[in-house]
Amino acid sequence: MSRFADESIEKISPYVPGEQLADRKYIKLNTNENPYYTSATAVAAIDGEQLLNLKRYSDPESRKLTEAIASYYGVDVDNVLVTNGSDEALAFAFYAYCRKGVCFADVTYGFYEVIANLFGCPVERIALDADFKIVAGNYFSKAKTVVIANPNAQTGIALSADDIERIISENAGNIVIIDQAYADFGDFNAISLVGKYSNLITVNTFSKSRSLAGARVGYIVADRELICDLKKVKNSFHPYNVNALSSVLATKAIEDDEYFLFCVKKIKATREAFSASLTERGFEVLPSSANFVLARHPSTGGRTLYEELKGKGILVRHFSDERIADFVRITIGTDAEMGRLLAAIDEIIGE
Ligand SMILES: *Cc1c(COP(=O)(O)O)cnc(C)c1O
Repeated sequence: MSRFADESIEKISPYVPGEQLADRKYIKLNTNENPYYTSATAVAAIDGEQLLNLKRYSDPESRKLTEAIASYYGVDVDNVLVTNGSDEALAFAFYAYCRKGVCFADVTYGFYEVIANLFGCPVERIALDADFKIVAGNYFSKAKTVVIANPNAQTGIALSADDIERIISENAGNIVIIDQAYADFGDFNAISLVGKYSNLITVNTFSKSRSLAGARVGYIVADRELICDLKKVKNSFHPYNVNALSSVLATKAIEDDEYFLFCVKKIKATREAFSASLTERGFEVLPSSANFVLARHPSTGGRTLYEELKGKGILVRHFSDERIADFVRITIGTDAEMGRLLAAIDEIIGE
């Protein structure tokens, strides 16, 4: 730390993203990206004129994209705020609603802890049960902001629609943030509850199910009063938060429903087949509703498996958090990639 930095900087432990290595060509199954390319109609919408017009600022309200999102979900444009990735959406929501206190699971998306620390939000961690499940009843009447990733990050396990709704209705006096980064790979989207609950904030992203991780586009769908609060934060931090090209890409991507449905269906099918293949090999695989699985082998530890796979040119994710240190998290890639991964696993566990 430099002698100029505020002392609070010393205490920060920033988020550690999955590796983006370039020392060799890897099969990359470590950051839950979509293995399928960005929608071709989205890419085709970027033309020379758009590039030349980068001399102009982007639309600070991202109107076209906001309208496309609102129309896709059948909500009003006043219910939508577009952000620079959903991490920015989380940052705005934590700034607006979590500084008196926030609670989330002991195993979940690591960014929650990081952003809470940055903004000085007191954190309560609520333990998953022995099966790595969120127990809905542990989140009732919290009198502080509740944050739930559904399906949950790292485990892939989803709560039922009923449990999600109970958590929202049992916290009428405070905000409930549902992070839906993986919702498109499951069976339930909480945006359907936005009209019914004025304390619900859904945080959504184009990064995973819509193959646009590099474009950095996320969005909040919530009650219009909450969107007003969050717009104030956004306009005090980064008025032109979404760049012009990403806005066009995301608008076209959400309009290309056919390709989206194809990718999601394919990834879900690959996930089911791959989970069965791991189970056959003796792995314990948590039941995933996401585009990744968390799995452990009875004799090969998580760290070892991660390292050996890396040596074979396949990147998966290992977390040193005590509760999941035995596991690796594997992003669902193409069938061909999963086949190569299984062959590598056979070499490693057969040794
Ligand atoms: C990937 C992820 C995000 C962040 O996605 P962005 O790329 O910033 O939109 C947010 N929440 C969870 C649970 C994630 O896994």
